[in-house]
Amino acid sequence: MINIVIFGPPGAGKGTQSAKLLDKYQLVHISTGDLFRMHMKEETELGKKAKSFMDAGNLVPDSVTIEMLKDKVQAHPEARGFIFDGFPRTTQQAEALDALLSTLSTSISVCLSLQVPDEELIKRLLERGKTSGRADDANEEVIQNRLNVYMRETSPLQDFYQNQNKLSAVNGVGTVDEIFDRLCESIDKLSAQTV
Ligand code: ADP
Repeated sequence: MINIVIFGPPGAGKGTQSAKLLDKYQLVHISTGDLFRMHMKEETELGKKAKSFMDAGNLVPDSVTIEMLKDKVQAHPEARGFIFDGFPRTTQQAEALDALLSTLSTSISVCLSLQVPDEELIKRLLERGKTSGRADDANEEVIQNRLNVYMRETSPLQDFYQNQNKLSAVNGVGTVDEIFDRLCESIDKLSAQTV
């Protein structure tokens, strides 16, 4: 199995690149942000729980997020591998993911960390906010909070994966195709080593 964490701040291009990667490598894509948005739209209990956190640009509590992620992974016993997009975002989530994958006798292959400067992120998110209908993209204060939460809680996970020798930093500025090529290069290098 190839299991990829696609990592980076809000607006780094995780969703865009995941869509291209899952096509090429035939992986199952799990985006916790998309899952929460789906629950919100359908007004499920989980969606109602997540909404206030998401609208303010804060993280949904780990217990809720980890449970949802586990259910989604376990729903795909046929998977050739997964792309985790927007998960993990905290150390507790990263540890839970390792534990979950080990029950499936597999592990994370690589954490691809998209590197994009803050000014570019804010520009992209405000632009996306014009059409995405996402409350958390429309307001600059909420965007700033998401970036702060990323710096404080999520960015340290790069050390977590570096300590496992699984971190691959990728320049996230350029055209979608240029960035995609860089990501594929990192993945192909890895499969050459592990097959
Ligand atoms: P972005 O990366 O642009 O912020 P996402 O769709 O990944 O977009 O996430 C949107 C929001 O969903 C986050 O700000 C957070 O409130 C919630 N969320 C998504 N994934 C997680 C997670 N792993 N842990 C906690 N909250 C999450």
